[in-house]
Amino acid sequence: MKNKIEKVLTDIDEITKNYKNQKVKLVAVSKKKPVSEILKAAKLGIKNFGENYLQESLPKIANLRDEKIIWHFIGKIQSNKCKDIAENFEWVHTLDRLKIAEKLNKYVPKGKKLNTLIQINLDHDENKGGIDKENLDDFLCELKKLENLSFRGLMIMPSVEAKENELTLLYKEAFLLADKIYLSEKNKIELSMGMSQDFKIALKEGSTIIRIGTGIFGERQ
Ligand SMILES: *Cc1c(COP(=O)(O)O)cnc(C)c1O
Repeated sequence: MKNKIEKVLTDIDEITKNYKNQKVKLVAVSKKKPVSEILKAAKLGIKNFGENYLQESLPKIANLRDEKIIWHFIGKIQSNKCKDIAENFEWVHTLDRLKIAEKLNKYVPKGKKLNTLIQINLDHDENKGGIDKENLDDFLCELKKLENLSFRGLMIMPSVEAKENELTLLYKEAFLLADKIYLSEKNKIELSMGMSQDFKIALKEGSTIIRIGTGIFGERQ
């Protein structure tokens, strides 16, 4: 695992060294991996971890309370899971429904802000979540009214069949969307894009958060 992490960190440095403003957050995606593996990665310096399934993540989070881990929820959000997500996670990457946003907002504990990314479905892939880009402005406008959520940027999840040139186009489009928001908000807009197979492409196109599972932990069963 040490070599894998070092490799990813070196790749990040290599690709972003000419872009001083591109500070990259590495999220280790620990779905289907046991507490012992997460602990090992944490001891190697990883601070951000991503989980997809609430049921699976809760015992892990409880177990690792003392590790100062920053937890990212990157799975599909079901309405009846909002309370646990709002209480146990610092980041949510997959927000795509206002009803869910309102529910999360309601359950965020006092004194906490939940960092949220809006998931955009740029390739109109019906097998996954995300809003259409045409709805982004309206969605963001409503989202900003929810005082316990802190809007931090966009998340993109390409369809699994996308080829390298298609990914590049998709990521360029995502960057332009994020940049447009940046110009009106004047706040840093995070861009969560790139996984083990394609994070180098994503970083070249301006990604600021990459979500790496197999590239750190090895294959999942
Ligand atoms: C599983 C998953 C990842 C990590 O995928 P790898 O290919 O193992 O790096 C990243 N993002 C999301 C949303 C995932 O579900």
